[in-house]
Parts: sequence; C-alpha cells; structure tokens
Amino acid sequence: MPTKKNLVIEINSEIRDALIEEGAQDAYKCYQCGKCSSVCPWFQVGTYEFPVHRLGIETLLGLLASSEEKEELAREVDRIYRCVGCEACIEQCPLGVNIPAILRAARRILVDFGSYPDTLKSVVQKLKNVGNPLGEPPEKRGDWARPLDLKYYNQEMEYLYFPCCIPAYDSRLQNVARSTAQLLRTAGVSFGILGEKENCCGEALRRIGAEKVYQELAKRNIELFRQNDVKKVITTSPHCYTTFKNEYPEFGGEFEIFHITQILARLLAEGKIVPGRRFEKKVVYHDPCTLGRQNGIYEEPRAVLRSIPGLELLEVEEFCRNLSLCCGAGGGALWQDWDKDERIADVRVNQLLETGAEVIAVACPYCLQMFEETLKSMGKEIPVLAVSEILYEVTK
Ligand code: SF4
Ligand code: SF4
Repeated sequence: MPTKKNLVIEINSEIRDALIEEGAQDAYKCYQCGKCSSVCPWFQVGTYEFPVHRLGIETLLGLLASSEEKEELAREVDRIYRCVGCEACIEQCPLGVNIPAILRAARRILVDFGSYPDTLKSVVQKLKNVGNPLGEPPEKRGDWARPLDLKYYNQEMEYLYFPCCIPAYDSRLQNVARSTAQLLRTAGVSFGILGEKENCCGEALRRIGAEKVYQELAKRNIELFRQNDVKKVITTSPHCYTTFKNEYPEFGGEFEIFHITQILARLLAEGKIVPGRRFEKKVVYHDPCTLGRQNGIYEEPRAVLRSIPGLELLEVEEFCRNLSLCCGAGGGALWQDWDKDERIADVRVNQLLETGAEVIAVACPYCLQMFEETLKSMGKEIPVLAVSEILYEVTK
C-alpha cells in the first residue's frame, strides 16, 4: 500500500503543469488501453522496453522528466529521446492521443535545462551557427548544383527547388539532388535554387525540443522566401515538406508545397518524362513515416516506380503504407548512436530484404542514409536508391 507520504512525492504538480503548458495536453485523454505500445517500432526491436502507454499517466503524475538523481535522470533522458516521431501510435490510438507531442513537451523542458544528449546539443549548435545540422559552411551549400549550371530562383520562375541539407552537402546524397534537377530540366519545369542563401527547414530542432531556435530559423526562412517572391516549393525530403506545409503557416508562411514524387508522377502522366530504358530489377519501396502516414502520400512514389519498364515493384505486405516501420532516423535519432542490438533500422532492413528485393527504393534522404549505413554494418551490398535516381537512370 502506498503511504500518504509516497503519494505526495509521486504527484509532482509543478512538472505536470510545465508538461501540459509545453504541449502535453493529450495526456488527459489516455485511458491506458496499451494499443500504442504494440505498434511502436521499439516493440519490434524487442531488446529495449519502451512502455509508450505509460507516458500519459506519468505525465499527469508529473513523473516524466522529473528526477533530481543524476543516474535516474540520465535514464529518463534516454527514454524520452527514444521516440522517433513515427506517429504509428497516434494512428492506432482509439482517442488519437499524440504521444510524440507529450514527449516533445518533455524534451522542451530538458532542452531548457540543458539536460539532453550531447550529440543533439551539437546538432542544435550547428543549426544555430551555420544553418545546417552538419556544420558545413553556408557558402558551399550550392556546390552540388555547379556541374549542372542551375539558375538561382527568381520571381519569373514557377518553383523553388529545395534539396534539403543532406543532399546539398553529403557527397553520396548530392546525386539525389542532381538527378532531381536533371529530371525537372528534362521535363521543361521552370525552377531555380537559393544555393548558399538557403538554410535548413529546422524540422529536427522542433523534434529535439529546441523550440526557440526552431522558431527563429523558421521565421528567417519565411522572410527569405518572401523576399525572393517564392510561391511554390518542391522538396526532396518529406521532413522539409511537412515543415513548410504544415508548420510554417503557424508563423504566417503560406506557400504551395510539393514533394518531388508528386511532381514526378504528374510529369510522367503528362508525358513530359518518358522512361526510355528498362530497369530489370526487383525493387521494394519503403514508405517514409513523414511522407506516408503523416501526409498520406503513398501512391505517387509507387506510380513513378510502376512507370519504369522492367521494374518489378515489391511490398513488405504486413508493414507497408500506414503500417510501414520507421527507418529509425526521425525525431533527431539520425544523429544519435544506438547499440547494435537496439537499432530500428536493422529490423526494417531485414523486413525489406525478406521480400527478395535487389534494390531498396526510398523517397527520403534520412531513410537513404540510415539504410545504407545499416547495410554496410551488416556486410550486405544492396543498393539503396531514391525514386528520382532510379527514374533518372532510365531517362538519361
Ligand atoms: S492507445 Fe491511446 S488511450 Fe491507449 S494507452 Fe496508448 S495513448 Fe493511451
Ligand atoms: S511516435 Fe513512434 S517511436 Fe514515438 S512513441 Fe509513437 S510509435 Fe513509438
């Protein structure tokens, strides 16, 4: 039996109120049915117990993020930063409880106190200092486009192409940005880039809990788009897509946003891109959480892949579309180190390979990086290609 004293210690109304104020209101809705825990990717990993269904009640008791003991707080921080923001739990919850928002509220408090993982502190600092999470010089942001001699965006153009930080700087991922630009050019699309003027969309900052830095960056980007008279934006990354489309309107940033797969599917349907060669491979498509479950874009990437002669499209039948398993990179997890037996990406890669695929197709730079690293660590040589890279291969 708990004593009266224990109860007083356990119910920390100050922490509870702080969590609710930071956005954890959904904790009141939770009735502890447990459906969320069964769909969380950590349940598939199996080596780490992540009782998602307890987070609501712990919030209401003021237990979440509340310990003053150093070791216990470190365990709590580790747990709060496990969530990859895949939103599988929200979809399965009968009441739509937003667990990632509850955890984000806790993250905001931890960030305010400087009690969050060092790797993420470094990401936040780089974003603050140079506008990208890799710490790369802003003046090199447009280098990927130089071999193509792309034009800077001006108000006569229809679209701004926003490649995302990783395809802008990472030597492997630059091929995704270049393939995309080549396809747009071939199809006669009027577009330009912002090059070195561009910053990160800031999505990771908000997911990490660095809300103040996020808002500063978001407002700076909105101002930059306005100054350049941007009306329509094409994004490589579902993370930039959802941030521009669903979150910038909070700060008055209203632009028309498209994910590249939406544009490519339309250009193929209009006959402006014609696959001229065959791609005789079995290809499995991985639905990124942010593009699929969070924005309902399931058909367009598949339509692009199906348009390619010779390509056999495979599915992870039990875990595709809204049931797709996260690649493990969301919510800031891309920059965290995970023990080998605690990697969501390993589980997902095994699911994808069990289909018999010869190629893994993705529509998100985070997924591409996670899967390539994971396959390397497994000693497997299966190509991971962006949908735009495969399409460009058969049109050039
Ligand atoms: S599924 Fe929803 S109501 Fe059920 S335990 Fe999870 S958050 Fe609570
Ligand atoms: S968002 Fe994904 S990782 Fe986070 S608690 Fe929900 S199911 Fe688990």
